[in-house]
Amino acid sequence: MQLLLTPTKFSFCKPLRQQMPMAAARRLLVRLAVGALCCTYPPLWAQTPIEVHDVIASATPTRNIALTLDACSGAFDDDLIEFLIRNRIPATLFATKKWLLKNPQGVAIIKAHLDLFDVEDHGENHIPAVIGAGRKVYGIAGEPDLLHLRQEVSEGAKAITEMIGVPPHWYRGATAEYDPQAIAEIERMGFGIAGFSINADSGATLRKPAVEERLRHVKGGDVIIAHMNKPASDTAEGLSTGLLQLLRNGLVFVRLDQVGLSATNLPKEQLVRPSSNQ
Ligand SMILES: [Zn+2]
Repeated sequence: MQLLLTPTKFSFCKPLRQQMPMAAARRLLVRLAVGALCCTYPPLWAQTPIEVHDVIASATPTRNIALTLDACSGAFDDDLIEFLIRNRIPATLFATKKWLLKNPQGVAIIKAHLDLFDVEDHGENHIPAVIGAGRKVYGIAGEPDLLHLRQEVSEGAKAITEMIGVPPHWYRGATAEYDPQAIAEIERMGFGIAGFSINADSGATLRKPAVEERLRHVKGGDVIIAHMNKPASDTAEGLSTGLLQLLRNGLVFVRLDQVGLSATNLPKEQLVRPSSNQ
């Protein structure tokens, strides 16, 4: 705190404006605010993970929408992927290293259709991007420290590069919730954080009519999240009818390696994050 206060002497009895120029006053207030955030215990970042909400970045109204499918752990929903192939619907698949190793047949089908599918990083072992001993999201333990987070991100990326043949540029953490410091670290490693705006299947727990109902709310710019790792769920059935209806409504599916995303619930400086291939 010493560093924050020594450059400027001021009295709390007189209005700040009379004691220093406006710019200096503003700088001081910002530093005091940052100091308060850093010195709060427990730190604020440790209290509330953020679920990042994104839409497709576009200066004008768009008909583009993005379907993203998470492959966390578990099996391969071949009904869902075969449906997408049959109907030429592009999708972005967020796969963990764990899932890739367990599903060689799924990997082979995806690799044969890289014109439709963009494979991106969902981590090595599906560990949420929250930092600190004992921290959990939906009952899943987070990372003990930043070193482990870096390993989760980079080992997931390495597995995709080796097994799919195309290096990923987007990251989606397990549970899609993040500490602000985890977001900063993942972006520093060169990955964009891929959020979403429509949760189509609530972790592959919804029945077919509920998935269809969620998809009825999709509009241009939306990023849909669903799951491709639970073939026993209703996700494939719900998406099959719902996605065809979106096509009939004139919406156009794009992959995340073709667009940038704009966060709708992050501070302003993180609003626009163009994809790395633009
Ligand atoms: Zn997941």
